[in-house]
Amino acid sequence: MADRYFPNEMQRYIPETATSSSNELVTETSKDSLTKLLYLPYNTLCDRLKTSALDLKDTVVRETWGLSGKRVHDYTLYTGALGTVYLLFKAYQVTKNQNDLKLCSEIVKACETASRNSGRVTFLCGRAGVCALGAVVAKHVGDQSLSDHYLAQFKEIRLSSDLPHELLYGRVGYLWACSFLNHHIGQDTIPYSHRRAVTDEIIKAGRRLARKGRSPLMYEWHGKKYWGAAHGLAGIMYVLMDMGLKPDEMEDVKDTLRYMISNRFPSGNYPSSEGSESDRLVHWCHGAPGVALTLVKAAQVTVSDLRIALSIDWKKQMDDGDKVFGDKEFLQAAADAGEVVWNRGLLKRVGICHGISGNAYVFLSLYRLTGKVEYLYRTKAFASFLLDRAQKLILEGKMHGGDCPYSMFEGVAGMAYLFLDMIEPSHARFPAYEL
Ligand SMILES: [Zn+2]
Repeated sequence: MADRYFPNEMQRYIPETATSSSNELVTETSKDSLTKLLYLPYNTLCDRLKTSALDLKDTVVRETWGLSGKRVHDYTLYTGALGTVYLLFKAYQVTKNQNDLKLCSEIVKACETASRNSGRVTFLCGRAGVCALGAVVAKHVGDQSLSDHYLAQFKEIRLSSDLPHELLYGRVGYLWACSFLNHHIGQDTIPYSHRRAVTDEIIKAGRRLARKGRSPLMYEWHGKKYWGAAHGLAGIMYVLMDMGLKPDEMEDVKDTLRYMISNRFPSGNYPSSEGSESDRLVHWCHGAPGVALTLVKAAQVTVSDLRIALSIDWKKQMDDGDKVFGDKEFLQAAADAGEVVWNRGLLKRVGICHGISGNAYVFLSLYRLTGKVEYLYRTKAFASFLLDRAQKLILEGKMHGGDCPYSMFEGVAGMAYLFLDMIEPSHARFPAYEL
């Protein structure tokens, strides 16, 4: 087990007051470059992360676009050219560099051609991602007719009856693209009735498969009942919570999460699939990190349900002593999962899906939910580890560079994305997952 991750020997917490006042002292006396980074004030570290991220972005563009003769072999956001677009779009949002936006348009156009007739329908691995991101990029360029073109293409996507339900290749991966469009283009760009019809199928199928089990909802992908974010319950529950569920459906979602919490491993980690006894993976795709993000979402949904019901300012109530969390179970379970990520999440890979970058987002998410600066420090610690060591460890063969080393979900594009996202932590979102 130990060879999957580096032991986390970083200090559990260094307050920002210590970072500004004792920084000079530590810089002078300590030879450990990682510790020096941990003592930097958050914003100073972010300046360094930004410089590194923009350099990485240029490398990613060169490797995935320039050197391929501007031809797209893998168009997906997960491992292919659309991931480069996603990173460029983030860089544009941070720097307002118009060249990045122009490049986004160029690459997304090539992805549009490459994804025709692919039969894949999701945001992460299919044509929905290309058309949705294409429409949003075109809107930012100010080209309304191009944006409408991508939207029209999006609306031509058909879901086959044998489609799975999971996030990477299935129905919720398509629904996530609908949410992305509604978020960035306008509320009813993809109408509720359309999303509702797809949601109905997912709920029905989940209840059908769960009939004999103890969880109210269950799904299968390639014959296995997965629990994680990429192929299983965590990802499906996450997306469902954004679909305007009926009260009985929302209860089923929450009871499914309660089932997962009460059947997690004694270590606090989560099995990758139903009945699995192997407590190995601490990834977004399989294990505690992906589940943690879903639990944060569930805690938010609980809070907003209560806020609507009681018509109160929940932030003020939280300041007054968390009174609104009548039921703190999801918040507590998310925090428990966060502990697993802190202890076992310094993976020997850099990426978003099963690497340190993706795991760092768990702390950002917990920080947004709770406002606790300890979580922001933990994000900073994981990012500092990457900044200080990732390139070196990969060169030495002590860290896996990823099968697609410049991609968003397996490679350094994801690391660059995290670095840029940290500049505004309250706006940071796990790429192509949190909205
Ligand atoms: Zn993975």
